Amino acid sequence: MKARVAIGVDIGGTNTKLALVTHDGQMRGARSFKTQDFPVFSDYLKELTRHIKELVEFKKTTSLADIPIAGVGVGAPNANWNNGMIESPVNLKWGRVDLAHQLEAAVGLPVELDNDANTAAIGEALFGVAKGVRDFILVTLGTGVGTGVYAEGLMIRSQNGKAGEGGHINVEKDGRLCGCGGKGHLEAYASSSGVELTALEIMGEKKTAKEVSDLCRQGDKKADQVVEKTAEWLGLGMSTMGAMLNPSLFVIGGGVSQLSDDFHKRVQHWLDHYAFKPIKHEAQVKLTQMNQENGSVLGAAALILHAHQT
Ligand SMILES: [Zn+2]
Repeated sequence: MKARVAIGVDIGGTNTKLALVTHDGQMRGARSFKTQDFPVFSDYLKELTRHIKELVEFKKTTSLADIPIAGVGVGAPNANWNNGMIESPVNLKWGRVDLAHQLEAAVGLPVELDNDANTAAIGEALFGVAKGVRDFILVTLGTGVGTGVYAEGLMIRSQNGKAGEGGHINVEKDGRLCGCGGKGHLEAYASSSGVELTALEIMGEKKTAKEVSDLCRQGDKKADQVVEKTAEWLGLGMSTMGAMLNPSLFVIGGGVSQLSDDFHKRVQHWLDHYAFKPIKHEAQVKLTQMNQENGSVLGAAALILHAHQT
């Protein structure tokens, strides 16, 4: 395989992280700055451009000096690959911004932008447990529930770039209010705030997902029930995704996937329990092996690097 290098940028609500990434997943020159320090988008764009130009200069001093940069891959919440826009995410105050085209003009490199669940899935396909897997669904369980869908070897985005929003499928009729304004969606049960609500219902007091996890590991029976209920809702939601897409693999990641050491096995149990009979036991549930700290930057760079795989 010809050596390639890209710049990966992960725009989070709190921090922006970026680095040079090689085709085999090596990161160089990793750096970050506070997204929150730039409430005005034009100021943010200037700062991001400065960091990218510094990385381009830094590359010249490394063993990668002779390899051209194939482009800049960017992952961000509510980003849309189809039009290159970031569209009013909850924790970024910029409104609707044309990041891909403006950044491309500023840095003079091709830029591709996608939402962070999709970049996580592409990263998983290129560098993670989904390497070589044609049909899989990545499910990220954090503040929200994000999903990225691969079918027949392709990332599925569909007409407006909004396919694969598995966090907003229904798991309870008229259930809990979801962050999107809908009711009974998976995100309201399998996100970190969903776990807090389940803890309140079962344990009678407010607990964070981390506290539930610690108590569960210490053998607390009620905390264990919270973990089990979360795994059940997730398995139920995934059974719906499975009926549509017949994946061979679900990759789960994010804080909630660490609720207990056997959390992915519990999810596997409930997925198989609820799954459409002909596809029962056809999908394996695995934990992501991507590093929590830098996996998002690798995934963003993979947006560029995956196009050069063959
Ligand atoms: Zn929702």
